[in-house]
Amino acid sequence: MLKTVQRQAASSVLRPLRSRFASPSTFYIADRQSRRGYSSESGEHDVVVIGGGPGGYVAAIKAAQLGLKTACVEKRGALGGTCLNVGCIPSKSLLNNSHIYHQIKHDIKQRGIEVDNVRLNLDQMMAAKDKSVKGLTGGIEILFKQNGVDYVKGTGTITGENEVKVKPIDGGEEISLKTKNIIIATGSEATPFPGLEVDEKKVITSTGAIALTEVPKKMIVIGGGIIGLEMGSVWSRLGAEVTVVEFLDAIGGPGMDADIAKMAQRILGRQGIKFKTSHKVLSGDASGEGVKLEIESVKNQKKDTLEADVVLVAIGRRPYTEGLGLENVGIETDERGRIIIDQEYRTKHENIRVIGDVTFGAMLAHKAEEEGIAAAEFIKKGYGHVNYGAIPSVMYTHPEAAWVGQSEQEVKASGKEYVVGTFPFLANSRAKTNLETDGMVKFIADKETDRVLGIHIIGPNAGEMIAEGVLAIEYGASSEDIARTSHAHPTLSEAFKEAAMATYDKAIHA
Ligand SMILES: Cc1cc2nc3c(=O)[nH]c(=O)nc-3n(C[C@H](O)[C@H](O)[C@H](O)COP(=O)(O)OP(=O)(O)OC[C@H]3O[C@@H](n4cnc5c(N)ncnc54)[C@H](O)[C@@H]3O)c2cc1C
Repeated sequence: MLKTVQRQAASSVLRPLRSRFASPSTFYIADRQSRRGYSSESGEHDVVVIGGGPGGYVAAIKAAQLGLKTACVEKRGALGGTCLNVGCIPSKSLLNNSHIYHQIKHDIKQRGIEVDNVRLNLDQMMAAKDKSVKGLTGGIEILFKQNGVDYVKGTGTITGENEVKVKPIDGGEEISLKTKNIIIATGSEATPFPGLEVDEKKVITSTGAIALTEVPKKMIVIGGGIIGLEMGSVWSRLGAEVTVVEFLDAIGGPGMDADIAKMAQRILGRQGIKFKTSHKVLSGDASGEGVKLEIESVKNQKKDTLEADVVLVAIGRRPYTEGLGLENVGIETDERGRIIIDQEYRTKHENIRVIGDVTFGAMLAHKAEEEGIAAAEFIKKGYGHVNYGAIPSVMYTHPEAAWVGQSEQEVKASGKEYVVGTFPFLANSRAKTNLETDGMVKFIADKETDRVLGIHIIGPNAGEMIAEGVLAIEYGASSEDIARTSHAHPTLSEAFKEAAMATYDKAIHA
């Protein structure tokens, strides 16, 4: 009953949109569509979302919550996209459990706990990962039901401004969805390395790296970005000899502050990961039992050959638009394959919007989610909000690295005068109690106004702690605002406060 009332309210709000975006023939076909029995009520949707990842499923739920009749088309057979099925969630499950294994083997003796006969049961570790994935993807299906989103299992192709045709995954008859609005959220895929064919066994992407059936003796990771370092950490902790080859002279990718990247490399190096920074991979040969890579120093062109049982290609991800039918409606992509949009996520067709990895910005699940909500709000209300200056990044290695806002190198390049304040976890009472003292918190603030420009953390629980930094940046806080805010003792977050103190004045404990 409530839903009907909401829908009536929605349709009155949407009347202007209707006349703007839909032709009379669209409605005619829509009515025929409903007679075929697929769609409910009028047969026409207000919104069809293509892609059920964090961008798409969140957009669909928000659109439905706003009273829009919504369908979400997903071809994977499970909701949650890359993130839940082969990305964030499975990788974090393996990171968490491999850390526990590694800690039991190498760290807990000093804590007064002695355990004999520690053995790895990789099958069980993978089963635990699969269980989390299944629970979470199934949970989204329940959310769809609760919110009244039509879940359409199949490959969606845009055939016109107001039509998405779906080829069902079970091989059934093609379905035509008539809609006033389309949200494209088709995500991304791993960028292949030229000349190295991915078989997800010997030459793997992150998808293979979350599903290996045995621990490789030697693993080479091509690319020292976040995904490469996270997956390299997992297999290094489980016993593989891991070498990371990175073209740049630092790990972590472009957003990571140089001080944090240096510290991360030192700490991960101590954990056993070898780094070949400033090296490029020239070619690869997977024809033998293992894989051979020819690499070359960027600095002196010296060549070298590396061999491994498994090579993980982690050189980045690229937008995924295969089979989407962009050509049917003349929608363009840029030179990197990203769908071109305006600030309201609109393509050249006002009713076709694009969010998440398939368009501009950081390829992060929470960024896609924010855009999903904003895109639905733009459709219903005409306004939405995402603060791209306050999107956090987290690398879930041990310790974690997390940051928000600008890095010191970015602030320097902008020409702005700034101050930096840091605080080491070595001087934090909780970190010392927990015997987890690696890392630091670093603030960068505007020299004149003290407004916080960037916060960078490497240390225990950095990924949780950065939430405070995100709020600070969102609300335009000064470092003094944070320094004068009480933080519970003894907590790791006192290091956050002390770094803020060190920025506008002086820290107490360092
Ligand atoms: C190993 C790994 C670890 C990661 N860890 C993190 C992390 O810790 N934190 C973080 O924020 N991000 C992480 N990411 C990135 C994150 O997964 C992505 O940024 C996020 O999933 C993007 O969401 P999306 O909705 O844009 O696209 P996706 O999640 O890629 O979803 C797109 C969906 O669209 C479907 N699709 C594509 N074309 C069609 C079509 N024509 N018809 C129907 N369906 C279609 C696909 O099957 C897919 O399910 C990680 C990625 C990887 C690979």
